[in-house]
Amino acid sequence: MGDQQSPINIGRTVTTPDLVDQLEIGWRPDRFSVRDGPDGVRLVPLGTHTAHLSDQAYRLANLHFHRPSEHWVRGRPMQAEMHAVHLRVDDRLHACVIAVFLDLEGGPGEDGTGEPPTEVDLPALLPDGGFHRYEGSLTTGEFTENVSWVVMREPVVVADGGLRAFVRAHADHARPVQPLNRRFVLTTG
Ligand SMILES: [Zn+2]
Repeated sequence: MGDQQSPINIGRTVTTPDLVDQLEIGWRPDRFSVRDGPDGVRLVPLGTHTAHLSDQAYRLANLHFHRPSEHWVRGRPMQAEMHAVHLRVDDRLHACVIAVFLDLEGGPGEDGTGEPPTEVDLPALLPDGGFHRYEGSLTTGEFTENVSWVVMREPVVVADGGLRAFVRAHADHARPVQPLNRRFVLTTG
């Protein structure tokens, strides 16, 4: 393993407002197939969802969840975290993971049964506001340092009771936070 590992504690950041123009997320509501792998349950979209980060095009490969969150904010974990893993369209060797902190308490209605959801309203899981950016690694498997991380600053309230129950029952564990070393975390301010 190298010195650019994930997750990290997000503490001091460097504010760069120009970053906001460099991220475009093209998510739509979609259906998902459920794959139960060695790293946990992965939801694989049936349709195509793209994200552009700094002129690079990425395509959504899977969604999965961690509880508590893997990234910490100012020394503390959040309730839960969604990872939307996108692979670079050119070569599929580099990933852009869009991470969203989840609020499992504030949503309406009853929780579901805990079964993996087969439909997800992805745009409803994208909070308003800015994001953090840093270069890091996968947090499972080989911990490969090929990930451009986008960590949304604001948590999103999960309105889908089925998804809330699934994350409570079956989310992956969190890898401990790793040293930042010589990296910077950029933020949109
Ligand atoms: Zn993950």
